Amino acid sequence: MTGNGIETDVAIVGGGPVGLTLAMDLAGRGIRVMVLEQRYRGELPSVKCNHVAARSMELFRRLGVSEKLRHAGLPEDYPNDVAYRTTMVGQEIARIPIPCRRDRYTATGGPDTWWPTPEPPHRINQIFLEPILFAHASAVSGVTILNCARFGGFAQDDDGVTVHAHALDSGEGLSISARYLVGCDGGKSDVRHAIGARLLGDPVVQRVQSSYICAPQLLSLLSGTPAWGNISLNPRRSGTVYAIDGRETWLIHNYLKDDEPDFDAIDRDWAIRAILGVGADFPYVMMSKEDWFGRRLVADRFRDRRVFLCGDAAHIWVPYAGYGMNAGLADAANLSWLLAARLNGWGAASILNAYERERQPITEQVSRFAMNHAHAMAKQRRGIPAVIEVESLAGEAARAAVGQAAYDLNIQQYCCAGLNFGYYYDTSPIIAYDGTPHPPYTMGDFTPSTVPGCRTPHLWLNDGRSLYDALGSEYILLRLDPAATVDGLLDAAPNRRLPLRLLDIVADEAATALYDTRLVLTRPDQHIAWRGDVQPTDPLPLIDRVRGATMV
Ligand SMILES: Cc1cc2nc3c(=O)[nH]c(=O)nc-3n(C[C@H](O)[C@H](O)[C@H](O)COP(=O)(O)OP(=O)(O)OC[C@H]3O[C@@H](n4cnc5c(N)ncnc54)[C@H](O)[C@@H]3O)c2cc1C
Repeated sequence: MTGNGIETDVAIVGGGPVGLTLAMDLAGRGIRVMVLEQRYRGELPSVKCNHVAARSMELFRRLGVSEKLRHAGLPEDYPNDVAYRTTMVGQEIARIPIPCRRDRYTATGGPDTWWPTPEPPHRINQIFLEPILFAHASAVSGVTILNCARFGGFAQDDDGVTVHAHALDSGEGLSISARYLVGCDGGKSDVRHAIGARLLGDPVVQRVQSSYICAPQLLSLLSGTPAWGNISLNPRRSGTVYAIDGRETWLIHNYLKDDEPDFDAIDRDWAIRAILGVGADFPYVMMSKEDWFGRRLVADRFRDRRVFLCGDAAHIWVPYAGYGMNAGLADAANLSWLLAARLNGWGAASILNAYERERQPITEQVSRFAMNHAHAMAKQRRGIPAVIEVESLAGEAARAAVGQAAYDLNIQQYCCAGLNFGYYYDTSPIIAYDGTPHPPYTMGDFTPSTVPGCRTPHLWLNDGRSLYDALGSEYILLRLDPAATVDGLLDAAPNRRLPLRLLDIVADEAATALYDTRLVLTRPDQHIAWRGDVQPTDPLPLIDRVRGATMV
């Protein structure tokens, strides 16, 4: 263990997916980072998140780790589909087709294959994801990860934060001096408690008994094509079974009913067999189990001066649409460039106010999407008719109706284009709005837009590159008409040390369909800060706005 008396720019508590991603992003912007993680090196997380959103994969592409992640998880030809059946081994009643990872970049015709992104979503469990993130982050210059180190508290003043921790193996006390501290320490966040932030919302949305099992025979009992997500819908016990390794390991969620408040009152083994549709003689091994509450809680603040919260430390909700971790990764992508702007000297002190102003409303909104979806699914489970498992015309009709309803309800969560690409920052102090309303979005739908605050619409450049590969860690002025004069903006930026680069875009049909102004200013996190047909007569107020020097 090292770390006593060490100085760093940013100390991060928690080396889960959000903390590691924040560390990589900050280091990529030239910032020194120290991560404190209480788990020992190589200790796996619990088997939770199974879905990495397209928007998160775009972030991982920028960080240079998307390819490694894409090659891990399920076997390359294992279908990523979501199948609805009466039981796991029962009759299939609906299927959402999602390409296996081998075909992910080339498949067409599916409900999410049209998405305008260089990095489609990826299905991979957190137990495979995290070791890759850890290995990648450990190798990034500027990142130091201290394992077996438990955060104990901090003190902050105008200049920095002193972080107190101790080594779990030796008991040795640690003291780290940092300019900023970020709590990425999960739902029970000590950092959140330390800054006195409170979680507000709905403490119990759902009760779930989760079981991670090894059942080598299960695949061979399926009547049709395997799937990544397998949802059993029957009146006895509905639940979800996620394929973890695509061979023999499965994560089963048993959703307790409204009149089942007590986890211990439910026979776990009976419920597993009912969801799978197998008898008492079916062999499986319980690898781990967890009883948990699905919640909808968002912290009342994400910051106390030099200390910030990211990921589950700031918000927790039922992981519908696979948007728990992914929302945390979006927090990290947002906070990273703001902190780096400040530490690199061109962001004004107030730029850091943008983090809470931008991220808190979005996470509040996603938390409601997720909770509403949880309620809608619970309602559907309550209404499954007994005849659904009967071989009769009535049974057939029930299967068709329930299958269609399940597809209609869930396509939006398993192919959640809106959550990936539709959200926008509409009350940010560092975005120059032009009065145009943002296009509405839902969990499943969105409209690409250059209204300031939106994600910069993706397009493929004429040289075959993704636009996002041509963007960098600075502000980029996209010019769609080479005749548009930009010298005023380009000359003004260095006056404030704001890193700004011009990127000319050929205004072909695809580009003009997405970009309706000649100039677009995109931020280091690929959200739009400003747009116009001509540069401002006096560019300095705009430069000052986007670097946080004029607070509104
Ligand atoms: C059953 C289930 C399924 C899920 N499925 C999905 C999904 O498909 N998609 C999705 O996006 N999300 C999903 N989630 C949510 C997802 O797992 C979390 O949102 C995600 O793990 C949060 O990442 P994090 O880095 O913020 O926190 P965590 O993963 O909780 O990591 C926090 C880290 O901080 C460390 N730590 C805590 N306290 C201290 C301390 N005092 N000192 C040092 N270290 C500390 C912990 O050891 C841990 O490594 C699911 C959750 C559950 C329960």
